[in-house]
Amino acid sequence: MVYLLFPDRFANGDLKNDTLAGFYQGTHREKPFGRHGGDLKGIADHLDYIKDLGVTAIWINPVLENNQKRESYHGYAITDLYKVDARFGSNEEYVKLIDKAHRSGIKIIQDMVMNHIGNEHWLVKDPPEKNWIHQFSSYTSSNYHGGVITDPYHSKYDSMIMVNGWFDHTMPDVNQSNPLFADYLIQNSIWWMEYAGIDGIRMDTYPYPDKYFMARWAKTLTDEYPRFSMVCEVWLNSIPQTAYWEKGAKNADGYESHLPSVTDFPFCFSVPKALNEGPGWDTGLNRLYELLSQDFQYPNANNNLTFLDNHDMTRYFLSVSKDLDKFKMGVSFLLTVRGIPQLYYGTEALMDGDASSHPQVRRDFQGGWAGDEVDFFKNKNLTSDQQNAMKFMTKILNWRKSKPVIHYGKLVHFIPQDNIYVYFRTLGTEKVMVVMNGNASEKLVNTERFAEELKGKTKAKNILTDETLQSLDTIKVPAKTALILELE
Ligand code: CA
Repeated sequence: MVYLLFPDRFANGDLKNDTLAGFYQGTHREKPFGRHGGDLKGIADHLDYIKDLGVTAIWINPVLENNQKRESYHGYAITDLYKVDARFGSNEEYVKLIDKAHRSGIKIIQDMVMNHIGNEHWLVKDPPEKNWIHQFSSYTSSNYHGGVITDPYHSKYDSMIMVNGWFDHTMPDVNQSNPLFADYLIQNSIWWMEYAGIDGIRMDTYPYPDKYFMARWAKTLTDEYPRFSMVCEVWLNSIPQTAYWEKGAKNADGYESHLPSVTDFPFCFSVPKALNEGPGWDTGLNRLYELLSQDFQYPNANNNLTFLDNHDMTRYFLSVSKDLDKFKMGVSFLLTVRGIPQLYYGTEALMDGDASSHPQVRRDFQGGWAGDEVDFFKNKNLTSDQQNAMKFMTKILNWRKSKPVIHYGKLVHFIPQDNIYVYFRTLGTEKVMVVMNGNASEKLVNTERFAEELKGKTKAKNILTDETLQSLDTIKVPAKTALILELE
């Protein structure tokens, strides 16, 4: 279970690095787009909290130097690919954090960016050759239409603008078809793997660079380190567009990405919709059934990174209108169905925020700054709903941690009836049954049609309440609830 955290907004563990000589930006916690002072020490100091929650891997938004004149807090405008931003800490502190995480049984995923660099990077100011950066006669941004790459009817103009256009005025577009720059980028990934001992890579904006370069990058790394994992951001709306980028996809144009895992945005978009809308032929919980029934398009859907939100999206709790029951249903689905789940920091404490402005979804984790009245780490001054959510999350995550049946088990689901969706995960003799009731009233579910999966099982344990169900003939499911049952 991957916990995504935004390093400038998680915890300020070292006040001495807040404002440093030689950096354009210091710390101004009152400014939404300013730096707030969070750092690597803040993460290291709270690894116990993260571990107790039941997290097994942390993806940290980029920590490399972003010595930019404005909005340097997000980390995606890198000005030195070999150096941790001193306002977060040093390379040595990064290695220490990773070692400490490993001792707690937690893996670290490094966020990397190869599509662009910050305009304050020395390679922009003094490039070895003009063609290391894509140049236009006047500022030209990408069209941000990732779908153009897989579009069989795309024009050369549109694909050129998509790939060569700049991500932002402050983020010049890197030319990976320059073989020297391509080598520089691949060597940089290998260097971080060897130097810091990272466990995985999350690659930013995957459809934006030259796709043959990205495939070479992925192949080079996985040839050398076959068990190393990387997930790449393919922010696309549809399943076929997403599946195209996964290793082993049978693409009509012959493209092979060599990429073990993709971000599952179609999954992310479907969950709040399914919970918010009324039931229908393809709405309500039927939407989730329809979503998964299309998994045949993925070479290995179980490797998809699944999530309900991230640092660019409206927070999940707000997407379900701050309805705690719906919140729990979606989280239960995420954590029991196929895929490698990712949760965004603060989801466990019902943080909300609307992505119409990025800082709203990147708010400070309360308790991370000295003097915070509410403290999520110490469970101080939380509302009863927040305590409820935190307890729920801790319970389900710690259960999930030691359940290979959820990590690898075969998935079988049944067409929803009356907005009740039932699926099973099976591994050897282990079996988990999930019953989702999308209705606003309690339902008694007759289990006759699930006989092929229930065979040999007579009792069940509700993993959230620890209650035992003595019979499986009918199952009572409270309104807007997902029952997670370990069958015996
Ligand atoms: Ca700091």
